Amino acid sequence: MAHLKKILCLMVAALVIMSTGMLPVKTGQAYAAASGVPGTPSLSHNNWDNDGNYTIAMNLWWGNNGTSWKLYENDQPIYESNLTDNTPNQQTAEKSFNGKSEGIYTYKCELVNSYGKTVSSVITVTVQGVANTPTPVTTSTPTPTGTNFPTDTPTQTSTSTTGPATITPTPTPTTGSLTTVCTWKDNKKCAYTPTYDDTFLIGSQEKVEVLHKKYGVKGTIFWNTGDAYDSRWPRLKMILDEGYLDIGAHTVNHPDLTQKTEQEIEYELSNSKRILEEKTGFKCETMAYPYFEHNSKVQQIAAKYYISARGGGMKEGALLESTNPENFYALKSYINLGVGGNNGPQSTLEMMNGWLDDAIRQGAWMIVTNHGVDGEGWEPSPLDKMDKHYAYVQTKNADVWSEGMAEVTKYIKERQSAAVSTVSASDEQTVISLSDTLDNAVFDYPLTLKTKVDSSWNSVTVTQGNITSTKLAAVEGTEKFIYYDAIPDKGQITIHKVN
Ligand SMILES: [Zn+2]
Repeated sequence: MAHLKKILCLMVAALVIMSTGMLPVKTGQAYAAASGVPGTPSLSHNNWDNDGNYTIAMNLWWGNNGTSWKLYENDQPIYESNLTDNTPNQQTAEKSFNGKSEGIYTYKCELVNSYGKTVSSVITVTVQGVANTPTPVTTSTPTPTGTNFPTDTPTQTSTSTTGPATITPTPTPTTGSLTTVCTWKDNKKCAYTPTYDDTFLIGSQEKVEVLHKKYGVKGTIFWNTGDAYDSRWPRLKMILDEGYLDIGAHTVNHPDLTQKTEQEIEYELSNSKRILEEKTGFKCETMAYPYFEHNSKVQQIAAKYYISARGGGMKEGALLESTNPENFYALKSYINLGVGGNNGPQSTLEMMNGWLDDAIRQGAWMIVTNHGVDGEGWEPSPLDKMDKHYAYVQTKNADVWSEGMAEVTKYIKERQSAAVSTVSASDEQTVISLSDTLDNAVFDYPLTLKTKVDSSWNSVTVTQGNITSTKLAAVEGTEKFIYYDAIPDKGQITIHKVN
């Protein structure tokens, strides 16, 4: 039974991947020509200081290479360049910009070869506070901010049609405001959620849990409860009790949900959640679709029981999830192919570390779908590769916020619906209100806020409810800011000068 399921999982997953563009490639040939349309390129930028100087990078991690790429800014083609077809290797290209005017720019690119072209997702670059723009009127009036995020807000698009020189500077709503919500927790540059599917891989999950603890990296395990024999529950409980991995659902019977009736989908999604919560005592708030298969009907039912659901790979059209996911019930993820071959190129340590570098550059949410280790399960990775990868993640700790899928989902949804305002401000203290429109019984994850304070303030206490912490002011340019955590709808926040 378990064997049959394993084999079925393997076959269907292979078919899924093959039918979605990750075609098998022959290795060992340096300059094989493309045999079909290009793979999907991803764009990233490095405009972290929001000035007008930055580079847009195009990365194709796998798939057929292009022979040229064309970059669009605000839907207008602005750059084109030839490339060398180096299939099946990865392909990269860059375009740098200098002295861009204040505004919000969207970028996408086309990767082109003789078979056709493939378009990337859209990324957004915000330029603000540069010298060549009119000085914004400064005001001490507190401005509710809430949904103003410094980078990568995909819903913002420019209507400019004639290229960069005439782009109308976008109003900078953060100017004059005192508090903003950081895009990611602790003001880190990206979020990272490693995930592990399938109950029968409990042995592998125990091995990787040791690595998560060793390197302080968090993530999520997805279990199908039909495979959860009595002996497996206490082992799962021990993993969850360590606090590095949380639990999500992977249905009861591991079916392709798109082939099931509404009643059957209801059964699979509601029971897996109920059983996981009863057996472990932990909340089960997210899920992953077996074989990455889902459609709108499946997503609608998932939304009744879960705050988000993970798909995988090219099914969602891209691999890296953005700061503001288009669809929380079709979250994008990289698939760690531990073996490779017929399923696509093997995910080497260098590739996996490269995905993380890309996520940092792009300020994105990186979710990775893993299965077993050391020969166990579908596309298993050597444990040694995972060890080295998580060691690399630890070296990027200043930039990477690793968390479970439920926690990152909560952070994003709270950030998106947060309203922040200054209630009062004096020489000694600032009082801030933080609210959102979400159910407080579920959405109680702390957001990281950034409040501008007077340049004479060096250290402060931050109090919300009966929790007080001491913070030092961060100097950024000529201004000072306090970074701190607060929970929406848990009472006003008081920042008191200590010095
Ligand atoms: Zn599975």
